[in-house]
Order: sequence, then structure tokens, then C-alpha cells
Amino acid sequence: MNLLKPGRVAAIRSLLVKGQASRRAIAREVGADRSTVAAMVAGPHPRESLRRCPDCGGIVEGRCKACGLKRRLQKRRFQPIDEPADGDLSLELHGGARKRYQRLYRRKVSAGQPVSEDAA
Ligand SMILES: [Zn+2]
Repeated sequence: MNLLKPGRVAAIRSLLVKGQASRRAIAREVGADRSTVAAMVAGPHPRESLRRCPDCGGIVEGRCKACGLKRRLQKRRFQPIDEPADGDLSLELHGGARKRYQRLYRRKVSAGQPVSEDAA
């Protein structure tokens, strides 16, 4: 909340730009507190540079990193591969993956569920 009148802010700023008076002298001349002058020297409060992202509504400083990342990921999204009509992905399974597949295959067979013929 900036309770300083615009004219007073401009007066402090111009005296600071001249660079000849101390902060204390500027504060005295303009009738402001020394801490006010010091705050103007320090620059805008970090909170004053925050804004709402128009896309996600998040509070951000500068560009919204979350939306930027989302856009980059959407550009890079993998294209789905065309699954063959017969369901054969031509995968060669080895080791634990092959054993797990064979175990599931036997379970399906014993349960009477349909299985592809080349899976044994
Ligand atoms: Zn955003």
C-alpha cells in the first residue's frame, strides 16, 4: 500500500537522482520518513512485481514457469505408435519379463480366456 502522494514520490525520486542530498536530508525536505526514502532506494517490493498468470491463475513473477513447462511438454509429446491390427507388437521378452508373461499366459489358458497362439 503506497500512501505517499504522487508529488511527494516524484520529489523524493528527483532528489535521489540528483544524488547530492543524503537520505535523511531528502526525508526532512519532503516531509517523509527516512525509511520511505530508503525503501525507494531499495526499489520495488518483490510483491509488487507479482501478477496473476492469465492461463493458470497462479501468482507468478515474470513469465509463468508452470505454463511454459506445460507448453514445452505438449510440443514434445510422443506420438502414439500404430498398434498392429492383430495385436502382435513383435516384442522379444527375456528373463523375468518372459517368465512373468508365460505365467500370465498359463493363468489365462487355465481360466479359459482367449490368448494369442504364438505366446507360449
Ligand atoms: Zn500459468
